[in-house]
Amino acid sequence: MLEGDEAPRLIDAVTEQAYNAVLITDGDLTNGGPFIVYCNPAFCRMSGYERSELLGRSPRLLQGPDTDRAVIESLRRGLEEQVFWEGSTVNYRKDGRPYVVNWSISPVFGDDGRVTHFVSMQQDITSRIQAEAERDMLIQALNQAHDPILVTDRDARIVFANAAFEALTGYRFEEVKGHTPALLGSGEQSPDFYRKMWQTLENNRPFQARFINQRKDGSRYFVEQSIAPVLDDIGRRTHFISTSWHVDELVERERVLHSMATEDKLTGLLTRRAGDDALHGALHAHLIGGEPLSVVICDIDHFKTVNDRFGHLAGDRIIQQVAKVIHQQVRASDPAIRWGGEEFLIVVRANSAVAMGLAERLRKAVEQLRDAEVGQVTLSLGVAEMLPGESIEQLLGRADGALYRAKRSGRNCAISGAGN
Ligand code: GH3
Ligand code: MG
Ligand code: MG
Repeated sequence: MLEGDEAPRLIDAVTEQAYNAVLITDGDLTNGGPFIVYCNPAFCRMSGYERSELLGRSPRLLQGPDTDRAVIESLRRGLEEQVFWEGSTVNYRKDGRPYVVNWSISPVFGDDGRVTHFVSMQQDITSRIQAEAERDMLIQALNQAHDPILVTDRDARIVFANAAFEALTGYRFEEVKGHTPALLGSGEQSPDFYRKMWQTLENNRPFQARFINQRKDGSRYFVEQSIAPVLDDIGRRTHFISTSWHVDELVERERVLHSMATEDKLTGLLTRRAGDDALHGALHAHLIGGEPLSVVICDIDHFKTVNDRFGHLAGDRIIQQVAKVIHQQVRASDPAIRWGGEEFLIVVRANSAVAMGLAERLRKAVEQLRDAEVGQVTLSLGVAEMLPGESIEQLLGRADGALYRAKRSGRNCAISGAGN
């Protein structure tokens, strides 16, 4: 406890040293009052006046052209009603410079219950207002940006999302605020992808990649996204900022280009090039996993005659019909390839007995086709199973040999190529 006259002395000292401006007027509202009876050094610094210039004057001398009349009116009513009052407006320094001040006023009552003084605490909020204006301007700029921008705190909780983000994702900022961007994850990228991302970011390096994200309605979209840690003066991470570039159209173009390269136009089966990749993939699985691997090569019999008698278009139609049969008979996991003009290769992840079964089914199904113009066509097939230590070329060579023998044995048959 403070003792004797210590309290007033200490309170004096506090007021004199206070960071906030303190102004005390008398309690008399008549004759142009109240008038200033005390101000602390902080008030003098803020207003630019000496204490002697303020004592006995009305605080009205701080007002000027931009002072809000309605605020002053409200303040006046507060004084008259002898209640606590709070507000802000523009005041003017002695040198004429305006500043924005936020202040509160409390009436102080004497023993007889009448107001003896008004005590006012004031704070110059010009820089806060300016900072807010600057922030608003930045937010407006970010909202004008065409590309989605997201800012999170250091714990990856979203603290800002711009209008382009809202338009792309269907989420309003308020809905994602406080969440982590994980809520945009489509589940189509591996945990490893995200681990790599965090590793990079935690080393305070920017991370760039293509993300497959999910909108509020569950639909997918692709963005090229760049995420950068934001560091403070002493290198501590305070935020992450992510800017992205919506690339659905690009991804679609890439997809078309890819399918053009991998999908045969006439038949929809794999192109020879994509087939080669599939064959090597299957060989890899065969070598690693030890599962059996076979191939079936098919060639349409006397196809030159079809072209010669019915024309190239009819020939194309037959190729399509045979491809359709192949597509229907072959397991989705077994690549079916248009290997040459009217030759097809099927990669079968099974032994030669299974592959022979498939070859026989194909033969029968094609035999039963009846084209309105061309009538019946038949297939010859060669089958071979991968032998230990064999290369793909050797495997294909044996399948070709079997096909050749099938042709020699009268066509419309399947023959399995034995090992050497
Ligand atoms: P074989 O029974 O011995 O196989 O006799 P074939 O007449 O079918 O002989 P081969 O397989 O060597 O001939 C293939 C012919 O297929 C040659 C070519 O004119 C024709 N051809 C190749 N690609 C296409 C194509 O895309 N469309 C059409 N209409 N014909 C093609
Ligand atoms: Mg041929
Ligand atoms: Mg042929």
